[in-house]
Amino acid sequence: MMTSTSGLAERIAAVQAAVDRAIARAGRDPASVTLVAVSKTVDREAVDEAYALGLRHFGENRVQEATAKFASPLPADATLHLVGHLQTNKVRSAVALFDLVESVDRPSLVDALEKEAARAGRLVPVVLQVNVAREPQKAGCAPEDAAALLAQLRRCPHLSPRGLMTIAPLEADPERTRPVFRALRELRDALTRDLSEVDLGVLSMGMTNDYAIAIEEGATHVRIGRAVFAG
Ligand SMILES: *Cc1c(COP(=O)(O)O)cnc(C)c1O
Repeated sequence: MMTSTSGLAERIAAVQAAVDRAIARAGRDPASVTLVAVSKTVDREAVDEAYALGLRHFGENRVQEATAKFASPLPADATLHLVGHLQTNKVRSAVALFDLVESVDRPSLVDALEKEAARAGRLVPVVLQVNVAREPQKAGCAPEDAAALLAQLRRCPHLSPRGLMTIAPLEADPERTRPVFRALRELRDALTRDLSEVDLGVLSMGMTNDYAIAIEEGATHVRIGRAVFAG
């Protein structure tokens, strides 16, 4: 784990400036994109420093590690996102810790989340992870399975579907990720057209390598780890 956070203010400012440039290029509202700082590689001290510098959204990918890291909770105005694969046997801990689960990708996980959210007396906001590029090693449902999962989510009184998430393939030329992000947005638009009364406002897409392209394609949440936390 990295303990030195020197230069964090400069890195956050640089990322924010690049985010703002992408928003301007796309002619979008500056308030429409949220920076989620993925803190999975850094310790709590770095998260607290990022919070002090104004960041409010943090992403973690492992339930157990995150539970230890946030044993002392973040201030109430911070939002903790689960962005990693969620095993069914970790759902109870995930519901206890995370404000929002971005990695919902299979029927058994929806069932487990509903059961634990009900038990905790919570309404848990969730995002469907879609494996747009159909990479065999990656989590996420197939695009053609998203509608059925969404229908299942809507039958769950303790889960609140908010949108879609994807991880683009790692490309040397980030421009090559554009069709993946565009496809996620088009899938969201199609699902919104087909289902009444569902607000899929969240498009969580874009990481350190490709967030500018994702913003141009409509990302509302960019999940950035290395550009924020790694020197
Ligand atoms: C690690 C991770 C990120 C951040 O990746 P960087 O390349 O460090 O910006 C974003 N999303 C998910 C799901 C991750 O696991």
